[in-house]
Amino acid sequence: TDLQIGKYQELEVIGKGSFGIVKKIKRISDSKIFVWKEIYFGRMCEKELELIVREVNILRELEHPYIVGYLERVLDTKHKRLFIVMEYCEGGDLHKMIQKHKKKNTFIKESKIWKIFTQIILALFECHRKRILHRDIKPDNIFLDNQKNIKLGDFGLARALNSDSQFAHTHVGTPFYMSPEQFAGNIHDDKTDIWSLGCLIYELACLSPPFEAFSLTELGKKISLGKFQNLPSFYSSELFDLISEMLQVDKNKRPSASEILAKITQINLQRNSF
Ligand code: ADP
Ligand code: MG
Repeated sequence: TDLQIGKYQELEVIGKGSFGIVKKIKRISDSKIFVWKEIYFGRMCEKELELIVREVNILRELEHPYIVGYLERVLDTKHKRLFIVMEYCEGGDLHKMIQKHKKKNTFIKESKIWKIFTQIILALFECHRKRILHRDIKPDNIFLDNQKNIKLGDFGLARALNSDSQFAHTHVGTPFYMSPEQFAGNIHDDKTDIWSLGCLIYELACLSPPFEAFSLTELGKKISLGKFQNLPSFYSSELFDLISEMLQVDKNKRPSASEILAKITQINLQRNSF
């Protein structure tokens, strides 16, 4: 109702999403800044709306320092709008970070890549532990807060895996980060998220994705071959090896989020002992 919407004052538009506009908002009671995503459901059937509401409920269960915090949903039945209130990430996103480095012709420091990698894997471990797949891991969907910590966001395409359906079947995602199994049969599981993360960490180091092509067919061929260029020589072999494990065509060979976490911890221990 109007009263609930009145708890917040709309500020400027900060992004345009596939489901709706993202606006900066101010909570009137304490002047705290948040954002909300506005979803117009006037043209949706009841079932679609139900699905969105269910998804928001899932996201509310994901409370983690490296996952964008969801506060509440506000329903405006009169104008058939749903507002999803989230914490505001003022530090931009990884896409912008990559673009900045490309423009300046500089590389991202390896220690920074490890920090981002560790934080994303902690966030992803939390999702997978709760049987939730992100399904759209890419630089634009990893936000940064004012302390430059990452926040995994944009769960617009995420789906919970319930016990009776082991796999989510819908074909989604950014073509560059699409996994071999998505090209082959549209099956997405937790190892598909690992593939996309492998592509993302690779792109942080090389400033371009591991597989590039001018057509979808050509891209599909490259991805199913799974061959990619080495990282610039100043990056460690530990980083390259871990990325290579995540970018294995056979998804069963890819490490899980918890296995990657263990490996990163191991690498950190070894490095700090010198
Ligand atoms: P879509 O599913 O359509 O990609 P996103 O959730 O990624 O929607 O939101 C679109 C854009 O809005 C993002 O790329 C980002 O620039 C901005 N945005 C979304 N959520 C936040 C947030 N919590 N804090 C800051 N900016 C955000
Ligand atoms: Mg997005």
